[in-house]
Amino acid sequence: MVSVSECFSESYAEARPKFCAAAAAAGGDLRSRLNPRARGPNGEALFLDTAWFGPADAENVLVLIAGTHGVEGHCGSGAEIAWLRHGGPAKLPPRTAALLIHAINPYGFAWTRRVTEDNVDLNRNFVDHDKAYPRNEGYLALADAILPRDWTDESHAETMKVFGAYAQQHGAYAFQGALSSGQYTHPDGIFFGGHKPTWSNRTVRALARDHLSAARRVAVIDFHTGLGPFGHGELICAVPPTAKSFARAKAWYGDEMTSPEGGTSTSAVVVGIMTDAFPQELPDAEVTAVAVEYGTYPVPEVLDAVRADNWLHQHGDVGSAQGKALKANMKERFFPAGDKWRDMVWARADQTIGWALAGLAA
Ligand SMILES: [Zn+2]
Repeated sequence: MVSVSECFSESYAEARPKFCAAAAAAGGDLRSRLNPRARGPNGEALFLDTAWFGPADAENVLVLIAGTHGVEGHCGSGAEIAWLRHGGPAKLPPRTAALLIHAINPYGFAWTRRVTEDNVDLNRNFVDHDKAYPRNEGYLALADAILPRDWTDESHAETMKVFGAYAQQHGAYAFQGALSSGQYTHPDGIFFGGHKPTWSNRTVRALARDHLSAARRVAVIDFHTGLGPFGHGELICAVPPTAKSFARAKAWYGDEMTSPEGGTSTSAVVVGIMTDAFPQELPDAEVTAVAVEYGTYPVPEVLDAVRADNWLHQHGDVGSAQGKALKANMKERFFPAGDKWRDMVWARADQTIGWALAGLAA
């Protein structure tokens, strides 16, 4: 009997060996890529680990990705380990392989942050950096309120006043978009897309080419948390509804699937997301990518935790009592404690993986 809860980990340092052991026990081909640009909070080396199951030249490949948004890796890691411990690799259909990517953004996972070591939101970083960046007028208007100099009750009240006025004028959805759709003007801000491809960006492109160049059909499931009702896994397809891969995803996942551009998702419309790398690097393969977005707490609480964490790393002291409290809050907002949420994560992951494998085989 597998304990689902025990598949999840309280830290990156706990998750990594757990993942590697579960992958090795299931007969996986493990590879590790060191992030040369960062260390963990206890000085530990940070790795992106991959595990491959099935024939090397499989025409169908299932790709599971954990930790695009660092701290959300608690969820993705747990889902991957649960799949391994429930005998997922042994149940793969013929001519089908699985590639598990663990801690694609190991810095963010280890430091309980959404961002990479360069303060970049990896899911805004896959734009064409040689072209003009998308503009975000809303962020420009709100930037000073988003990152105040001090983190106090007074500064919080002031920020809420500015946010409230903006939301009243432009609507709640536009407000969420201003904050979270991504910005390329404030490297010290939140949801910053970066000014060049990050280490994680370059690494995932390299591993797509290394592992998937023989694949004809690739199903990508990228695990996220922080938006939606507690424990519910929203299947988000972020490609334009006119794209061929969107129709395919719809056929696989049905009306459960939502679309930011179609206005049916809890997510703002974002560009330059990580899963875009797969069709770009594998032009001859049919790539079908979705994110599973598990709800945790109300959006204002989640966004507040993200802002606080950003303030902490820009102006605060991570080791202080305040820093520890903000980190504990950050972790809870993206990885709720207790068995219930974890059970829901695995049930939905198992279901989604089943639909993806059926789609690959169709
Ligand atoms: Zn996310």
